[in-house]
Amino acid sequence: MQKTFAMIKPDAVSAGYHHNILQELELGGFAIVSKARVQLTRARAAEFYAEHKGKHFYEKLVDFMSSGPVIALVLAKEEAITGWRTLMGPTNSVVAKEQKPDSLRGKYGTDGTYNACHGADSPASAAREIKFFFPRLILD
Ligand code: ATP
Ligand code: MG
Repeated sequence: MQKTFAMIKPDAVSAGYHHNILQELELGGFAIVSKARVQLTRARAAEFYAEHKGKHFYEKLVDFMSSGPVIALVLAKEEAITGWRTLMGPTNSVVAKEQKPDSLRGKYGTDGTYNACHGADSPASAAREIKFFFPRLILD
C-alpha cells in the first residue's frame, strides 16, 4: 500500500472544515496512519515550501502556512499519491470550484493561496514531507 503526506491547511482548520475533510478522506478509502495538529513557525513553513522560494507567492504562502495550526497526515491507499491529489482537485480553488466543484479544494478552499489542503506530488516528496512532520515514524 502506498503512503502519502497530506495536510489540512490553516484556512480549513480555522473554519472547522477539517472534520469534513477527515470524514471525506476516510470515505474515499484512505487509511490514516498518522495524524497531528501542528503550529508551524514561519521558518518551518519556509523550509517546507523551500522549492517555491523566489516565486511571487512565496512570502504570502509562508505567512499563510504559519498563521494557525495545520493537521498533518500520513495516508495509505493503493496509488495514494495521485489519488489524494485527485480528491483535492486543482491547486487554485477558484478553478476547482468551476471545474471540480466536488473536490476538497472546490468545496473548502477560497483562491490560489487559501486552498484548504496539501498533498505530496511524488514518492520522493512524500518521503521527505513525512519525515519533516513525523521524523520518528518507521516507514516499513
Ligand atoms: P500543495 O503543494 O500545497 O499541495 P500544489 O502542489 O497543488 O499544492 P504548488 O505549485 O506546489 O501546488 O504550490 C504550493 C502552494 O502555493 C499552493 O497549494 C498554494 O497554496 C500556493 N500557490 C501556488 N501557486 C500559487 C499562485 N500562483 N498564487 C498564489 N498562491 C499559489
Ligand atoms: Mg506542491
